[in-house]
Amino acid sequence: MKSFCGKMLEVDLTSGKAKNILISEEMVKTYLGGRGLGARLLFDMLPAKTEPLSPKNVLIFLTGPLTGTMVPGSSKFVVVTKSPLTGGWCDSYSSGRISLELKKAGYDGLVIHGRSNHPCYLRIDEKGVQIREANLIWRKDSFETERILRESEGNAPVGISSIGPAGEKLVRFACINSDLYRQAGRGGVGAVMGSKNLKAILVKGSQRIEIHDRKEVVALNRLNHKRAKQSQVAQARMKYGTPLTLNITHTGGILPTMNFQYGTWEKALEKIDSIGVHKSITAYKACLFCFTHCSFETRINEGKYAGGVLEGPEYETLGMFGSNQLIDSLPTIIQANILCDQLGMDTISAGNIIGFIMECFEKELLSSKQTGGLEIRFGESEASLAALRMMAHREGFGEIMANGVKVLANYIGNDSNRFAMHVKGMEFPAYEPRGAFGSGLSYAVSPRGACHRRAWPPAKEILGGYPPYTIEGKAEMIKALYNENGILHSLLVCDMPAKFIPMSLDDYSQYWHAVSGESVSKEDFLKISERIETLIRMFNNREGFTRKDDFLPYRTLHEPLPDGPAKGQCIGEENLNKMIDEYYALRGWDASGIPTEETRRRYGLLGENEIQ
Ligand code: SF4
Repeated sequence: MKSFCGKMLEVDLTSGKAKNILISEEMVKTYLGGRGLGARLLFDMLPAKTEPLSPKNVLIFLTGPLTGTMVPGSSKFVVVTKSPLTGGWCDSYSSGRISLELKKAGYDGLVIHGRSNHPCYLRIDEKGVQIREANLIWRKDSFETERILRESEGNAPVGISSIGPAGEKLVRFACINSDLYRQAGRGGVGAVMGSKNLKAILVKGSQRIEIHDRKEVVALNRLNHKRAKQSQVAQARMKYGTPLTLNITHTGGILPTMNFQYGTWEKALEKIDSIGVHKSITAYKACLFCFTHCSFETRINEGKYAGGVLEGPEYETLGMFGSNQLIDSLPTIIQANILCDQLGMDTISAGNIIGFIMECFEKELLSSKQTGGLEIRFGESEASLAALRMMAHREGFGEIMANGVKVLANYIGNDSNRFAMHVKGMEFPAYEPRGAFGSGLSYAVSPRGACHRRAWPPAKEILGGYPPYTIEGKAEMIKALYNENGILHSLLVCDMPAKFIPMSLDDYSQYWHAVSGESVSKEDFLKISERIETLIRMFNNREGFTRKDDFLPYRTLHEPLPDGPAKGQCIGEENLNKMIDEYYALRGWDASGIPTEETRRRYGLLGENEIQ
C-alpha cells in the first residue's frame, strides 16, 4: 500500500532502548491511521487504570495514510494518550512539519514509553533515534526551545514538537507546540510528555513518500481548488479565518459570555470578531499542503504589548479570553494567546478556568486571601494574564488552577461545580450548548470530554436549518458528524477544507485510491468509523467511565439562558437523557453506554486484536 511505511518507532525512555514495530496493511484497512490506529494501539499497549502521569502511560504520535501526499490539509498529526485532565481517552490534533518529516524518515508514527531519568529530547531520522540531553532547552519556553533546536540543525527544514514550562510542571492542560504556533492543545498531552522528562522531538527525514498515482492527486486537487474558488464559505474563511465563527455564534446566541452565563455580547462586534481581527492581519498563512488557508499573522501595534506577533488568534481563543472573560481588547487577547503558546498551555482550558474564577469572585465564593493576592474579575485583562503565568508555573494559587476547572470547583466548593463548565474534567470550548442542543449531546458523549472537534453542530443548528432548541434528530445528527470526522481524523486531514469547500467522504475515497492504490467506499469508511468509536468507548469503559460520565453541568441543564435568540432555553436532564438513550441505541451500546456483544462482534472487537 503506497504512502504507508508499515512501521512505527517505539522508544522506551526508561531503558533508553528503541525498536521498530510493524504495522500491517490489514491494520491500516481496519483502522486507517491517526485516531483509528491510535485507538487500537492505546487499547492494546496501555495497562488498564494506568496513572496518566506515570512512566507506564504511553504517548503516541501518529500520522495518517494521506500525510504528506499533497491532499488538502494533509500535514496533521495526532497525539494519543491517557489524559491527565480526564483520566480517559485523549486524542489531540495539530498541524506541523513533524508529520511530514516522520513519514520521510520512514515512520507512520512514534510510540513513547517510560520516563527518562534526566531531561531529554529525541532526534529522529531514517537511521533511527538518538536520546539527547536537554540541558540547553529545559526550562525554556516553546518558542525559544524551537529556535535553539532549529539552530542546532543549521536552520534546515526539520519537524519540531516541544513542550513549554507548563508541560514540565505537569499542568493538566499543557499542550505540545509545533512550528511555533501550532498546538496539540487539548487534554494535557504536554503534561504526559513532561512526565516523561521529554522536552522535544526533532525529526528530519529525506525519503520520498510513495504515491500510487501522483497525477490523479494533482487532478483531484485542481478540481477541489476550483470548487473552493466557487465556494462563498471557503472564500469567507480564507479572508477572515476562524474568527468568522464569532459572528456566527453571536448571531445564534451561543457565544460564551461571562463564563457561559450569557450567549451574546454586543461589545465583541467589530472589536474581537472577524472585522476586528481582520484589521490586525499582517499576512495570511497556511499549513503545508493546504489551499484553503484559514490562518493569518497578527501584530500588536500599540500599548504595553506592542511588537507581539502571533499566528492567530483563532475563534476559540477569542471566545474563551474575549467574551467569556468580558475582555474586548484584541491586543490583550493576542498577548494571552502568545503567552499560552510560549508557556505551552491550551487556550481553551486556560480561558475557561479564568472565566470560572472571575465568576467565583463575582459571587464572592473566592477571596484574594485564598488566592494569595490574585483578584480577578470580569473584564480585568492584566489579572487574566497574571493568572496565566501562575498556572503555567504552578505558583501560589496557580497550583490549584493547573489541575483544571473540575478540581478547582471541588476545592472552592459552595456549589461552584454548578457553573464549572466541563465534561469528564475537560473544559467547554467556545460554544454555549443551551442555544444548540446538539452541541450539548456532542459535549456529553465525547470520549475526550467537552469537545468541539468530533462534531461541529453549529454547522447544522445555526447555519444548516436544523431547529436548535429541540432534541429530535440530534442523536442521529451527532452520530453522523462524529462518523464523518472520525474518518478525517484517522486519514489525518484537516476537517476544515471538508466543511468549507465542501468535500464529502466520496471525495476522500477518491484521494485514498489515488494515494494508496486501494479502493474503499463511503460505506466502508463509515463502518471503520463505527469500529473506532466503539473501541474508544471500550477503552473508556475499561478505565471506569460509564453513562454517569456523559453528563452536562447544572447550568447547561437547569439555568435558562437569559439573553439572545436562545433566551429562556436550557437543555434539561430529561432531554439530555433522551438524546443519550437514542445515541447509545444508534451506536449499538446498551443503556449504560457499554457496547453490546453483538456490536463488538460486528466490528471485530470481541477478542483482543493483536498488533501485527
Ligand atoms: S484549513 Fe486552516 S487549519 Fe486546515 S490545513 Fe488549511 S490552514 Fe491548516
